Amino acid sequence: MSIQDTDVIIIGAGPVGLFAVFECGMLGLKCHVIDALSEIGGQCTALYPEKPIYDIPGMPAVLAGDLIDSLEKQAAPFKPAYHLEQSVTALDEHKDKTFTVTTSKGTKIKGKAIIIAAGGGAFGPNKPPLANIADFENTSVFYACRNKEQFRGKRLVIAGGGDSALDWAIALSNIADTVSLIHRREKFRASPDSVEKLHRLASAGKIDLLTSFQLKELKGFGAQLSHVAISDLDDNIQEIEADALLCFYGLASSLGVIEEWGLDLKSKHVLIKQSTAETNRERIFAVGDVATYDHKIKLILTGFAECAQAAHAIYNYIHPDTPLHFEYSTTKGLPA
Ligand SMILES: Cc1cc2nc3c(=O)[nH]c(=O)nc-3n(C[C@H](O)[C@H](O)[C@H](O)COP(=O)(O)OP(=O)(O)OC[C@H]3O[C@@H](n4cnc5c(N)ncnc54)[C@H](O)[C@@H]3O)c2cc1C
Repeated sequence: MSIQDTDVIIIGAGPVGLFAVFECGMLGLKCHVIDALSEIGGQCTALYPEKPIYDIPGMPAVLAGDLIDSLEKQAAPFKPAYHLEQSVTALDEHKDKTFTVTTSKGTKIKGKAIIIAAGGGAFGPNKPPLANIADFENTSVFYACRNKEQFRGKRLVIAGGGDSALDWAIALSNIADTVSLIHRREKFRASPDSVEKLHRLASAGKIDLLTSFQLKELKGFGAQLSHVAISDLDDNIQEIEADALLCFYGLASSLGVIEEWGLDLKSKHVLIKQSTAETNRERIFAVGDVATYDHKIKLILTGFAECAQAAHAIYNYIHPDTPLHFEYSTTKGLPA
């Protein structure tokens, strides 16, 4: 496979990786973007595309999925190359200070700088240990809600006790025929506001609350679920009729090979210099959730600002003889 050439290799196509394309593009830097997932958007696409975000500057409320669509459009004039469904497997540094990144599909990209925008790492859902769960996945067992409408009129079981489980139980109680929420403890690990709403809906008969239960067995025909068996602490079993199961047991994520690149790390995050977003390795930068420093706040808007810092620092490496003449976007405009 031939090696593809670019200025900047961005690892991670979450909201922050996408905005890094824009910030680099505004300085004339070409980008290739790699992501382990099949779609761009990171957590916004994979975990909460239909939830409104309220703290993106200038957008009083924006659905996470719509934010990703806008970021993709904003990056499009700079013609980024996306390499999806492939995780990074190797990094080689050359004598001329360039890097080659290799992916799990064998793609090789050579670049002059790297931006790690890997969030919490390549992630996947924690799954309940049920023998036949794979038979139902993506047909009647799901680990995220991408489209509320698919549950309209369905008998839905939701498992989990955190914010995602509660938020979706509340949101889908108006759409699904029935919603049963299963949690292995009495107490929930969710915002007090959501817990209060949940109890109100349970009292009104809109949600069937089954605490101190855990998932025991899935039954159905082919890929279609018909019953979810649950057990209490004494292993008493009951069966719930169900068309679909949504499991929210959190995410397992791993930085994978990035942890082996000699970067200074703190609790699985990459330490950066806040003024440039550069790591301890020259020309390797980190932005967004994966990056850390004193008092870091993990928000999309923080990651966006880090992209601007990184792009300016990268420009100086790539064009050492042409000092950056700073211009506002209003002056510079976009490529035709
Ligand atoms: C339910 C929920 C609600 C939230 N609400 C808000 C909110 O209101 N406001 C706010 O600011 N933030 C919110 N957040 C947090 C926000 O989503 C994150 O801060 C944001 O997604 C971080 O963006 P990112 O691009 O840094 O990382 P991510 O979105 O995590 O994207 C990282 C991408 O990198 C990829 N990747 C990782 N490792 C590799 C590898 N080795 N090879 C290839 N690809 C790799 C992953 O597949 C992923 O797509 C919320 C999060 C959740 C879960």
